[in-house]
Amino acid sequence: MKVIVVGGGASGMMCAALLAQNGVDVTLIEKNERLGKKLFITGKGRCNLTNNCELQDFFANVVTNGKFMTSALYGFSPKDTIEFFENNGVKLKTERGNRVFPQSDKSSDIIKCLEKALRTYGVEVRLNTLVKGVCVDGGGVYGVKIDTDEEILADKVVVATGGISYQATGSTGDGYKWAKALGHNVIEPRPALVPILLKEQYGLQGLSLKNVSASVVRDGKELFSQFGEMLFTHNGASGPIILSLSSLINKHYSAGKFDAKYSLCIDLKPALSMDTLQNRLIREFSQRSNVELKNILPALMPKSLVSVVIKQSGLNEKQVANGVTKEQREKLAYAIKNLTFLIVGLENINAGIITSGGVDCKQVNPKDMMSKLITNLYFIGEVLDIDALTGGFNLQLAFSCAHQMSKSV
Ligand SMILES: Cc1cc2nc3c(=O)[nH]c(=O)nc-3n(C[C@H](O)[C@H](O)[C@H](O)COP(=O)(O)OP(=O)(O)OC[C@H]3O[C@@H](n4cnc5c(N)ncnc54)[C@H](O)[C@@H]3O)c2cc1C
Repeated sequence: MKVIVVGGGASGMMCAALLAQNGVDVTLIEKNERLGKKLFITGKGRCNLTNNCELQDFFANVVTNGKFMTSALYGFSPKDTIEFFENNGVKLKTERGNRVFPQSDKSSDIIKCLEKALRTYGVEVRLNTLVKGVCVDGGGVYGVKIDTDEEILADKVVVATGGISYQATGSTGDGYKWAKALGHNVIEPRPALVPILLKEQYGLQGLSLKNVSASVVRDGKELFSQFGEMLFTHNGASGPIILSLSSLINKHYSAGKFDAKYSLCIDLKPALSMDTLQNRLIREFSQRSNVELKNILPALMPKSLVSVVIKQSGLNEKQVANGVTKEQREKLAYAIKNLTFLIVGLENINAGIITSGGVDCKQVNPKDMMSKLITNLYFIGEVLDIDALTGGFNLQLAFSCAHQMSKSV
């Protein structure tokens, strides 16, 4: 039995190693000069390789096609990923939010570990080799064609070519093209875990906010909300909670446009109810009755936000506290809890930590990741229409797919 794995990223390396460990003759083909270029930059170079949570919490973090991944995740769970790397000599640690990293804080240790497994189990690794297409005959796969037009023969071909984000790492969407050419439906690739573009920046670039709640609102209705950290960029917002929101709303975003009017609404004081906030304002105003609003509000929020909050509440910066009516105070409290920015788009797909969309999971068998259309053709990892939030979930999906394919051979 000969298997070709195309793509030496997280899923391809894991799949090749596990197959070879089971005694399969494997060739891993990678177009770059080295393996794991994207893996190297994960977790800001520290590689958050999985999330050590219970599976039911894991599924809550999978944005697309969690159900499709059920069998794969039970078959190779975060605990199995941890065991795999620890058994292969990488010491790991678990940080806030169950995020698992190598103790060394070096993603290169994860890559070295996978490379060592590939060597140990005898995988043939072909670097600097671009696969041009999958060779299919009478409904079944018989190999791949590489850039020299040579055909390399195999009984099975695993496509592990990744998505279409961070293209400099090698993921340029080749797997999508082959899948389409062979009759598969490819769900429109969309940017996920990307900054959100806002209409007005108000000079807030560089401002970061902690312990805020950010929601996306459509037609006055809150769609999704996240609590935590965010920051303003030169053209919008980014940071953990914004990246998560981008993944949750991107199904409404097609060909660079949203299907309706969406706003980002920030609650600067999520721990305070509207009444408690009003009381706080009453106290501040009575203690500093002759002071202008612009000089009182910095007690409640970063200084650079003061003029934006006052503007959105329809008040005047120079207004003194004892001149603020009850109605105006209510408007101010409302603006503090509902600072609103019109969303104009998502950052370009290349800037996505992950691509959502990809090979339609309906056409792939979740038991072994084989195409339902082409015998012995498999899809694993980000090339599939699967994506999750940040926290090590995406690499775990890649590893679980890889294991699912390998155990079927
Ligand atoms: C900046 C950044 C940080 C991230 N941090 C994390 C994190 O900390 N935790 C986490 O869980 N996820 C993280 N991710 C997401 C994670 O990296 C991906 O989910 C994961 O790499 C997907 O693995 P993959 O094997 O499917 O694809 P990839 O890792 O993209 O690998 C695909 C490989 O296929 C090769 N290839 C493509 N086409 C061809 C071809 N025609 N011929 C030959 N080879 C080909 C590519 O060169 C590439 O090496 C991060 C992503 C980015 C961009």
